[in-house]
Amino acid sequence: MSKTKSAPPPVEGDSPFPLTDEKALLRLYYGGSRLPSPTDGFLILLRVQPEGDGSGSVLFECNSSSLRFRLDVPKATRTERAKVKAMIDDDWVPKCPRHHGEQLLIRVKNDFLCPLCGVRYARA
Ligand SMILES: [Zn+2]
Repeated sequence: MSKTKSAPPPVEGDSPFPLTDEKALLRLYYGGSRLPSPTDGFLILLRVQPEGDGSGSVLFECNSSSLRFRLDVPKATRTERAKVKAMIDDDWVPKCPRHHGEQLLIRVKNDFLCPLCGVRYARA
């Protein structure tokens, strides 16, 4: 995870702040709900970034303070990878196991990624 990198503290105006209470926010995010901002208002999705280790990160901007925040999305678990692999083996277009609803995974090079959480769930 990017937390282990020795990145300098986010002093410059452009680097996003890590969000606390990630578990609760992730639950809202997977459910498709609007996320409350730590600085009042709510968070607007800017970008979803797949990380090299298979996890994802989501960049948000607060609609009232215009501060940017980063939400780290944990890697796929063994159970999730097995679910996705079963869908691929059945010749289905695999869906992300985390969101309620029908979020399809997209194929990027040799990986199946979720465009909403940035997580890699399978090798194609
Ligand atoms: Zn997803």
